[in-house]
Amino acid sequence: VSTRGNWHERPRIGIMGGTFDPIHNGHLVAASEVAWVYDLDEVIFVPTGRPVFKLDKKVTNAEDRYLMTVIATASNPKFTVSRVDIDRPGVTYTIDTLRDLRAQHPDAELFFITGADAVAEIMQWKDAEHMWDLAHFVAVTRPGYSSPKGVRLPEGKVDTLEIPALAISSTDVRRRATHGEPVWYLVPDGVVQYIGKHGLYR
Ligand code: ATP
Ligand code: MG
Repeated sequence: VSTRGNWHERPRIGIMGGTFDPIHNGHLVAASEVAWVYDLDEVIFVPTGRPVFKLDKKVTNAEDRYLMTVIATASNPKFTVSRVDIDRPGVTYTIDTLRDLRAQHPDAELFFITGADAVAEIMQWKDAEHMWDLAHFVAVTRPGYSSPKGVRLPEGKVDTLEIPALAISSTDVRRRATHGEPVWYLVPDGVVQYIGKHGLYR
């Protein structure tokens, strides 16, 4: 459902949450495409603090993930980065992200952007039933993941948007960096340099 070209009374803000360990071009294409199709004024990237679905995994410290996200998004005038999740103590829940950003942007219409794989997790998110009141949800296609079948999403609450397929994951970027393999063109140049300079994922 393209809303492009319509006149909008309220500011339209996308929210792209993620671990961003590291941020890669798949994240950037997803945000750019949703911004285009939904006529967004801004997309706020929100690196998670302690991601609830990754509590058993080792995650790079928040400041490094935050800085890589700033570097990756700096050249796009519509992209910004928020510290709400990394500055909030404890485990990150999306409901808290949405409430914080809603408080900061009381007039805005919010669009929460997730990949097809994260949609499966939506229903397990804390206070899922209240999230629908806070934002629209846009699930973008992601290579290797089909929309989950067993999962029942509430009628009309989540849009699905087909985007250019980039089979990139942070897991693969980390694995490549660990083995000294190239990550050029999978992540922005500044992020390649940041990973090297700080010896991340070695
Ligand atoms: P990891 O492998 O560590 O889980 P990731 O590549 O899945 O990393 P996340 O930070 O977990 O990246 O993802 C943040 C959001 O971006 C999620 O909603 C995810 O579905 C989406 N996303 C990640 N990669 C892509 C991609 N290549 N195409 C579309 N959406 C993506
Ligand atoms: Mg992931």
